[in-house]
Amino acid sequence: MGEHDERCEAMVLEAPGTALRLRHLPLPVAGPGEILVRVNACAVCRTDLHVLDGELPGLRYPIVPGHQIVGRVLAHGAGVTRPAIGSKVGVCWLAGSCGHCEYCRHGEENLCDDARFTGWQRDGGYATHCITRAEFAYTLPEDVGDIELAPLLCGGVIGYRALRACGAARRLGLFGFGSAAHIITQVALHQQREVYAFTRPGDAAAQAFARRLGAAWAGASDQLPPQALDAAIIFASDGALLPAALRTLRKGGRLVCAAIHMSEIPHFDYARLWGERSIQSIANMTRADAVQFLALAPRIPVRVQTRVYPFTAANQALDDLRAGRFSGTAVLSMAPA
Ligand SMILES: [Zn+2]
Ligand SMILES: [Zn+2]
Repeated sequence: MGEHDERCEAMVLEAPGTALRLRHLPLPVAGPGEILVRVNACAVCRTDLHVLDGELPGLRYPIVPGHQIVGRVLAHGAGVTRPAIGSKVGVCWLAGSCGHCEYCRHGEENLCDDARFTGWQRDGGYATHCITRAEFAYTLPEDVGDIELAPLLCGGVIGYRALRACGAARRLGLFGFGSAAHIITQVALHQQREVYAFTRPGDAAAQAFARRLGAAWAGASDQLPPQALDAAIIFASDGALLPAALRTLRKGGRLVCAAIHMSEIPHFDYARLWGERSIQSIANMTRADAVQFLALAPRIPVRVQTRVYPFTAANQALDDLRAGRFSGTAVLSMAPA
């Protein structure tokens, strides 16, 4: 079937707080420097729930969510020669940056004021096709399946950025044991760290999942681990976790907040921070993060646990994520059922 016979089907968010609706759209056209990608799989991220709920500033509607996209290059816009037509590519959260500001020139394109993001400011991968800037697409290995690759593109890449921010921490706490944590546990163990997993109170399934993956300890986020931790990462969006996580750190310990959005952080005493504990947020990702992590993951190798949905069931996948009905990562498949 030629490119011109194809149509684009997309799950579209038309207003905050509403369900996504299946729409038939004209095939998008790659502009200068862009590529048209035929999407095979797109993993679901907690950030997609914030898009759905209208919690991120500057959202435009209608928008197609999804920023962990695996597909093949179908067409080049003007001036593009790579990645080659037909090659397997990944599209991540960072959709573009200005390339010349102070941040961009110093390896911090994740902080660029003019950065653009997939599935937030540009239509994403809950669709059969999407457009991306060629320079922001990543060539992916042919010997790993599309479903298995998709969760690496945000949960993996941004989780890895958060892990690096923990420095040499040996005893590592992970708060919120979803997609990113189940990937980063495997990377941390590979790096000879110990993982302490914190889940919603009463979530025995998530705790068992963490132990199966090799966590030294798993418990509820209101519990203290058996030993003070060198660092902790919060992947969940609950602001109450911040003082809870600080409580688990030894003096000099670091707390890394990897969530894009957090509910209000409760007041906490300075004594929690005292002793040279520090708090850092992780904002977005750079292309270097993606290149590094996508090279590392198959060498470990990271094995993702996925629940696969047809992409037209995106609303169900998002509901299940919100309710914590599965372990690992939900992935939308564009393959005909
Ligand atoms: Zn910039
Ligand atoms: Zn994400």
